[in-house]
Amino acid sequence: MVSSTETASAVLEKGGNGTETDVKIIKNYVNGAFVQSNSENILDIIDPSNGKQLAKLPLSTKSEFDDAVESAKNAFPAWRRTPPVERARYFFKLKTIMEDRFDDIARVLTLENGKTFDEARGSVRRAVENVEVAAGIPTMMQGSSLEDVASGIDTVVYRRPIGVFAAITPFNFPAMVPLWFLPYAVATGNTFILKPSEQVPMTSNFIFELIDEVGFPPGVVNLVHGDKVVVDGICTHPDIKGVSFVGSSPVAQHVYTLASKNGKRVQALGGAKNFVVVSDDADINLAAEAIIASCFGCAGERCLAASVLLGDEKIYDELKDLVVQKASNIKIGGGFDEGVLMGPVVSARHKERVLSYIEKGIEEGADMILDGREAQVDGKEGGYYLRPTIFENVKPSMTIAKEEIFGPVLSMMKVKDLDDAIEIISEHPLANTISIFTTSGKNARKFRYNVDASMIGINIGVPAPMSFFTFGGAKGSFFGDLKAHGKDSIEFYTDKKVVISRW
Ligand code: NAD
Repeated sequence: MVSSTETASAVLEKGGNGTETDVKIIKNYVNGAFVQSNSENILDIIDPSNGKQLAKLPLSTKSEFDDAVESAKNAFPAWRRTPPVERARYFFKLKTIMEDRFDDIARVLTLENGKTFDEARGSVRRAVENVEVAAGIPTMMQGSSLEDVASGIDTVVYRRPIGVFAAITPFNFPAMVPLWFLPYAVATGNTFILKPSEQVPMTSNFIFELIDEVGFPPGVVNLVHGDKVVVDGICTHPDIKGVSFVGSSPVAQHVYTLASKNGKRVQALGGAKNFVVVSDDADINLAAEAIIASCFGCAGERCLAASVLLGDEKIYDELKDLVVQKASNIKIGGGFDEGVLMGPVVSARHKERVLSYIEKGIEEGADMILDGREAQVDGKEGGYYLRPTIFENVKPSMTIAKEEIFGPVLSMMKVKDLDDAIEIISEHPLANTISIFTTSGKNARKFRYNVDASMIGINIGVPAPMSFFTFGGAKGSFFGDLKAHGKDSIEFYTDKKVVISRW
């Protein structure tokens, strides 16, 4: 086992209390080895629970990224000839190693992202599930065939890998989202470069230490940290064949436009503004519980988080009281602290952003019925904490109803009926996920049939498709056609060669 001693493991061993003098420098992983970037553009990686420095991250240069592409390109011919059943075995091994180090991955994740340890563990479970599904590649990658398409003529369709793929990922799920892509791209026979969020680089490094233990041939999987320089490099490099992206909609659109202009396959999953509807016939307790978990879990930093609650006027007051009461009881604190349900948001800058949306809500005339702006945690005064904030009498035209806040802020609106709710939802340009709470099958069908979002929850607050189904939104929440994981993933990472033969 090669150890990247100056990466996340080291931070983990120290318990994350790195000081200015002993912080570690996070490395890239290229051609089967951890390498330190020579970039002079260096970011501090901060523990959001207390504001202390964890590590330093050099933002790689274009030429360092080019080296990774070269290595992935050189590794491709031999890797694509490796039988799928052998490629699958690397993922069986990765699954075993990830299970052995499951809590350690979650610990690094909580440390740099801030979400609670339980939430981190949940997302690592989702990450591992993608590795499990990709290990079925000999079956999943099969093509199709038909005898006698004309007299004595047969047709066979082979699925083939294409070359070097890259993924660009966001800060909010540092283990799960990279593994929405890496296992499928690599198991299908492509080689791969990950560019994780520069806000949370340590989780990827830790996972790459495990990948290093698996012993993939050099160049098959690579990790390059960086910012826009690397992202734009991915979108324009002639040897990158396809790009998977997850992040905010403006950047998703930028990546989609630039990479497709440069002839690449692109799947770009963008931002969200998720509505949740509660019908007059709903189980109000169940709905309130699920809405609280959806809106305030992961401090609202989830692309599937409920953000706007549309309550039928007949049950609105009862629902409001329950939601406010439950939100007021949420314990905030560091992600490792006992009984904490909501950790800090990821950074000081993000906290400022969320606070500015709250100010906007007040300014534009929404009524604040729960104020989460003041949030101190004893002994962690440097952390980026917020408490749940709830507004009511929100209008669809208000900024807090239109824009993605990505923090613990819920906007409530009273609606006349389901048609009223569907109309409000349909006018919104984003459509990632939407949920309804109802006991009526008729209402549920009407809802799922008429709304545009492509991930729908019926009596489910966070309708997250599992790794064997496709994941991705619609309208301004998604750019491309083939979505993440599930069958779409195999389609995205392979080309189909049709052979028509007569003997
Ligand atoms: P972000 O768009 O700021 O960053 C995502 C990636 O893009 C990062 O790797 C970052 O380095 C890169 N990037 C950022 N700005 C760039 C620029 N100007 N040019 C080129 N590259 C750039 O997103 P984030 O803040 O890290 O993550 C939160 C966002 O991700 C939210 O909008 C959330 O809804 C979205 N998200 C969506 C899904 C989904 O499934 N649709 C899942 C998770 C997160």
